[in-house]
Amino acid sequence: MPEKPFQPSRMVDPNPPDNDIRVDVLIIGVGFAGGTLAAALGDTPLTVCMVDRADPRDALDATFDGRAFAISQSNQKLLEGTGLWPRLAETSAPILDIRVSDGPSLLFLHYDHQAVGDEPMGYMIENHHLRVALHERHKAQTRLTQLAPGQVKTLERDGGGVRAELSDGRRVRARLAVGADGRGSDTRKSAGIGLTQWSYHQTGIVCTVRHERNHDYVAQERFLPAGPFAILPLMGDVAGAANRSSIVWTEREDLAPAMMALDDDEFAQELSRRFGAFLGDIEVIGPRWAYPLSLQFARETTATRLVLIGDAAHGMHPIAGQGLNMGLRDVAALAEVLADAARLGLDIGDAATLERYERWRRFDNTMMLAATDALNRLFSNDIAPVRLARDAGLAVVDSIPPLKRLFMRHAMGAVGDLPRLLRGERL
Ligand SMILES: Cc1cc2nc3c(=O)[nH]c(=O)nc-3n(C[C@H](O)[C@H](O)[C@H](O)COP(=O)(O)OP(=O)(O)OC[C@H]3O[C@@H](n4cnc5c(N)ncnc54)[C@H](O)[C@@H]3O)c2cc1C
Repeated sequence: MPEKPFQPSRMVDPNPPDNDIRVDVLIIGVGFAGGTLAAALGDTPLTVCMVDRADPRDALDATFDGRAFAISQSNQKLLEGTGLWPRLAETSAPILDIRVSDGPSLLFLHYDHQAVGDEPMGYMIENHHLRVALHERHKAQTRLTQLAPGQVKTLERDGGGVRAELSDGRRVRARLAVGADGRGSDTRKSAGIGLTQWSYHQTGIVCTVRHERNHDYVAQERFLPAGPFAILPLMGDVAGAANRSSIVWTEREDLAPAMMALDDDEFAQELSRRFGAFLGDIEVIGPRWAYPLSLQFARETTATRLVLIGDAAHGMHPIAGQGLNMGLRDVAALAEVLADAARLGLDIGDAATLERYERWRRFDNTMMLAATDALNRLFSNDIAPVRLARDAGLAVVDSIPPLKRLFMRHAMGAVGDLPRLLRGERL
């Protein structure tokens, strides 16, 4: 792809005498994790350079990626604390309740947000709106430099610092490199960090539907033999369609290509069979997307002057809508560790600083990887005894309020040793 110059918001002199860009933090990958970290650090005295191989303007196209993310209540606070929320508030749908059901079983689990307070359990944020919010926030932050599209050709790290050379010859020096370049992370590979991974042999089919009746801001998760089928409430779009939902339909990987190849009417029929009639007639609006589903995690998340965050460190099944939530928790913890180190005059890239981050995030990420993996194995089958046991489990949780509240607080991201940004405090 020919490299187009991207007009960054300026923070450091891009042409120092030796032509190297010098910053505190080099972020490789400006997706949601990397982009939110930049927005968080942009409010500290630290200087940041962001590099992404894609042109950020391409991602501003509304048809770039059809996903919408269920973001927990605590991560909504992070978006507020990083100045992203004002751009998202009107377009994000609150998730008031969550209803979990198992195929045709009459047993279900219903989480009502009022059981734990007045606030929504989370929000549905559309990919497009999040990208626009990040783009606008970055432009307003004077300590950020963005080099995109830009491809890191070499990344050298040692006790003294980080030196990156891009394929177009631009060079960056930093005290710390952050690999936020997603599941296929070249940063992780360049550091020789191994990956543990397995495929779920499932595909996540994503699309948006308009329906006759209002969703009342209830997120529905229905477990079907091929995998979970989620119906997630969205706000109305610019055309005024108030009753919209995002669908994440998990299908067997051998059947998904045939589903994706159906014409619009046949696809809508297949979707309706799974969706049911509770929201009246439905209509698929816009394109459909397919994502192969797998679990993966990096065997290390730190190395000399390097840290991995987001999907570069851990990629999970979307069954609980937690992949990006975990990435944003990485962001909140890393931003706090770096801001505190800078305040104390410590080296933000040394081993002690990175170890503090690594210890903070290890347990949370490991538990979520294990939980999403176990849930998918438990629910993505039609084995009668397993079905009976899990339906009984749903009914038991539904009938024990303290247990139910504990699960709700987990879904809201309110459990654990939370960084300041997730508690609604300033960095
Ligand atoms: C179907 C589906 C539904 C999901 N729903 C939810 C949900 O409801 N809630 C939730 O929390 N999560 C959800 N997720 C997970 C979520 O999509 C991911 O966790 C999240 O997008 C990861 O963000 P990231 O910034 O870490 O990585 P990415 O979004 O992959 O961003 C990586 C960035 O790095 C750039 N890049 C890549 N390689 C290089 C390179 N070599 N050099 C420079 N730049 C590079 C890319 O261009 C990109 O901008 C879902 C996932 C799927 C598949």
